[in-house]
Amino acid sequence: MGRLDGKVTIVTGGAGGIGLETGILFAKEGAKVVILADISKEALAKAKSKLLQLVPDAKVEEFVCDVSKETQVQALVESADAHGGVDVMFNNAGIMHARDDDAIGTPEEIWDLTQNINVKGVWFGSKHAVLSLRKHMKTKGSIINTASVVALVGSATPQLAYTASKGAVLAMTRELAIVHAREGFRFNNLCPAPLNTPLLQDWLGDDVAKRHRREIHFPMGRFGEAIEQAQAVLFLASDESSFVNGHDFVVDGGMTKAYVTPE
Ligand code: NAD
Repeated sequence: MGRLDGKVTIVTGGAGGIGLETGILFAKEGAKVVILADISKEALAKAKSKLLQLVPDAKVEEFVCDVSKETQVQALVESADAHGGVDVMFNNAGIMHARDDDAIGTPEEIWDLTQNINVKGVWFGSKHAVLSLRKHMKTKGSIINTASVVALVGSATPQLAYTASKGAVLAMTRELAIVHAREGFRFNNLCPAPLNTPLLQDWLGDDVAKRHRREIHFPMGRFGEAIEQAQAVLFLASDESSFVNGHDFVVDGGMTKAYVTPE
């Protein structure tokens, strides 16, 4: 028995990082179907073949979707109708733009782009998941939204638009969790620490000083791995977390609990 046996699952930002590791784990745990959605068609094709290499009997579908466009998100969620409707929706797609800066330096267009993907994308995904769960008369569903530790603690290396967007995800998810609780639809946040995924690592590059600025704050002395986030998402997606709702699941090696870190 897999932990997700029979569940119809959708993962946005599914072509890379946390999303792909989660898709692989969902497939390993017996999901009826894993729908990987991403804005990048090429990355999706690679992701699908990697997943099938690791889990050859998985049922996996790819769906090109820009989560900031509601019609595309609606089409994505409705693609699950063929399998009986979505049970698990992981709204994970997000960007951290290189031109995101502090209050003075952040261009307005970068602010808008970031909110459109990171906040509206999560709203659209949550909205259409609820509509689908209702349409298929489901009495339970799990929606997991990716926020970040920067929604919880301040950072002197600013990315103001990104931080504001993740704070919005945190608050939105909390409210959705309460509004839909009696319908059996659970909403939880995932709050990852800085990770070893392209989103951050490409941006840090080989700038040792920029890396050190962050690494001194990690109690465990390292960046997190995408698979470590995926394991948390699996728990939130499965019925094992049936009484976990409105939770901010922080997976950060203790970073947000630290004052002085070990030498
Ligand atoms: P990643 O860049 O490896 O993956 C993000 C995926 O989202 C990519 O495949 C990208 O193509 C896709 N994407 C971007 N814009 C999209 C859009 N408009 N529509 C659909 N897909 C789109 O990054 P990751 O680290 O796996 O990030 C996943 C989530 O985790 C993001 O929401 C990110 O903000 C969050 N997060 C990451 C870190 C970190 O350090 N990497 C820390 C905290 C939170």
